[in-house]
Amino acid sequence: MFDSLSNRLTKTFTGLRNRGRINPVDIEETCEEIRVALLEADVAGSVVSLLVEKVRTRSLEQISLDKKGINPGQQIISIVHEELVSILGGSARRLRYAKVAPTVIMLAGLQGSGKTTLAGKLAAYLKSEGNTPVLVACDLQRPNAVDQLQVVGSSVGVPVFAPETGNGVGDPVKVAKAGIEFAKQKVHNFVIVDTAGRLGVDKELMEQAKNIRDAISPNEVLFVVDAMIGQDAVNTALAFLDGVGFDGIVLTKMDGDARGGAALSIASVTGRPVMFLSTGEKSSEFEPFHPDRMANRILGMGDVATLAEQAKKALDGLDGDSAQKLEAKFIAGEKFTFDDFLEQLQAMKKMGSMSKILGMLPGAQSAVMKKQIAAIDENELTRAEAIIHSMTPTERQEPKIINGSRRARIARGSGTEVFQVNNVLDRFSAAQKAMKQMRNQPGLGGAANVPGMPPMSGMPAQKVAPPPKRSKSGNPAKRALEGR
Ligand code: GDP
Repeated sequence: MFDSLSNRLTKTFTGLRNRGRINPVDIEETCEEIRVALLEADVAGSVVSLLVEKVRTRSLEQISLDKKGINPGQQIISIVHEELVSILGGSARRLRYAKVAPTVIMLAGLQGSGKTTLAGKLAAYLKSEGNTPVLVACDLQRPNAVDQLQVVGSSVGVPVFAPETGNGVGDPVKVAKAGIEFAKQKVHNFVIVDTAGRLGVDKELMEQAKNIRDAISPNEVLFVVDAMIGQDAVNTALAFLDGVGFDGIVLTKMDGDARGGAALSIASVTGRPVMFLSTGEKSSEFEPFHPDRMANRILGMGDVATLAEQAKKALDGLDGDSAQKLEAKFIAGEKFTFDDFLEQLQAMKKMGSMSKILGMLPGAQSAVMKKQIAAIDENELTRAEAIIHSMTPTERQEPKIINGSRRARIARGSGTEVFQVNNVLDRFSAAQKAMKQMRNQPGLGGAANVPGMPPMSGMPAQKVAPPPKRSKSGNPAKRALEGR
């Protein structure tokens, strides 16, 4: 996401950060570099001019104040950050709940924009927040759209109201209305209405969406748009704003190699906030949009807040109360076993691909980290899981007994090679050590110590503070006690 833009801006700012003094010419140069970077990322011209002008004026003002002790480059970076946040919509907006349930969300957008997929993701997200959503199948045009929604619904465990088979048959307005009634009867507190799209903007499509909207008065109309279509995303958004009207935007396919311009311009051009991002085909690859976090990512500062939220969700989603169990075990100082390791691997898999996870860390744009990320073998987690599954329960609890012949058996059982089994055993013992170290050093944490994560040689090694020196007492009896 935004890789090339982020690279360019990071380069511009590295030079700036190290300057002791900054003059107006430096500011002009920086503004020009920002302008070119944004235009190349496909950000709308009007938005670029607005942002660059604000950065220029504020930066010139700032250097004229010549505040002692404050790094001027850093101040300019802060200004760019603030202005980016502002064009991304300012603060994050949460969904508006209806005063009386159910809250109705209608999805609108072009065919292929990812509406149906998004309907499932949104339902899964709402469910994970303790809600009871229902999906309503009002895309009665696209072949198999109703079936697809049913598959999506069952994969995330959310019911689907689909009285019509679709494929050109049925009245979407009637289905939408009946869907709301169904939700009231069955006490669902959220209704997500999937509507039909077309390959391009056309009048009939707008009319249908408008009729559904008028019939069900949704609390939120969300416009779903594929970020990979670049500037066209902005044009389509404007056409929908005019034809149907919407309250918020969902950007899909943010995992693609889109230059990202749509995401940066769409809120500013339409005056509607981006509310969610879809970053892949899996139901977990979805996140609420936070302008400040996105600005952090664009400026190469990472997005640890989203990473932490996703980790918490993945751990909370484990069977029963495994996350708490693991924490309790950890606090009680109990042995970390392969069963715990397996649970952690499964949680990590749920968070999405390793490269995506690591890409959210600060410094992910640095050459060293990029090399590490590019070298990641995404199948490694699956392989490690297969290897652990091939161990006996005793082996999982007592890994010390895994000798040469056991290693050969595990390799055969998991369809891997002995060196790969050795690799997992090494990782496990490193994780075990890290757990012990963390337990003994409260307050130590950080990615370098996350069990199950490959050691990142590009990351700074964690310094373990030496134990504080005790003062030797002048009293020999007390000194003897201190020495124990
Ligand atoms: P609809 O016609 O608007 O309902 O679109 P679909 O939900 O059927 O999505 C169209 C295609 O895009 C499908 O192949 C989806 O798997 C894919 N898709 C949806 N969202 C994403 C995403 O965030 N990333 C990627 N890579 N593919 C997506």
